[in-house]
Amino acid sequence: MKKIEDYVLSIPDFPEPGVIFRDITSVLQDADGLQLAIDSMQDCLKDIDVDVIAGTESRGFIFGVPIAYNLHKPFVPIRKKGKLPRETVSVSYDLEYGSAEIEMHKDSIKPGQKVVIVDDLIATGGTIEAAIKLVEQLGGEVVKVVFLMELAGLKGRERLNGYDVASVICYD
Ligand code: 5GP
Repeated sequence: MKKIEDYVLSIPDFPEPGVIFRDITSVLQDADGLQLAIDSMQDCLKDIDVDVIAGTESRGFIFGVPIAYNLHKPFVPIRKKGKLPRETVSVSYDLEYGSAEIEMHKDSIKPGQKVVIVDDLIATGGTIEAAIKLVEQLGGEVVKVVFLMELAGLKGRERLNGYDVASVICYD
């Protein structure tokens, strides 16, 4: 039987020279790959008591929604600035060049709710650190963060010290 890593294509020099991009479209476009990815990420939550699944735009939506659906939990999108129509809370964070801002609807999480955040990949951890801040601004408790892939060399996990972090596959 194929493993998840067999479905991931590694694309050299994308989006810029020197970067190896781990492509998930090759996972999604195979029915077995897609099912294995969702099931493996969901397996990381089997001992977790969760009220809400949150996912970061945009690849976090792809994995977060089916997990929420399977667990019969709500799904909350964490979006790039300017996309959500109602009242939001926002957090800015630094990128390699410049900065970015992400938002959530103010009513998407109630104080005290247990939240799992889902994304496809953790690199430096900057995106997910900002997502955690957002959830906490709303009074949510981040009980776990789950990724399909982790780029261990970029030490994102260290940045999330104190949080329960799970990834299905890990690259150096
Ligand atoms: P970080 O904030 O941890 O440095 O970067 C993680 C974010 O960048 C994630 O939202 C992820 O989707 C995206 N990302 C960075 N590198 C890759 C990559 O090699 N493959 C994929 N699929 N996403 C990446």
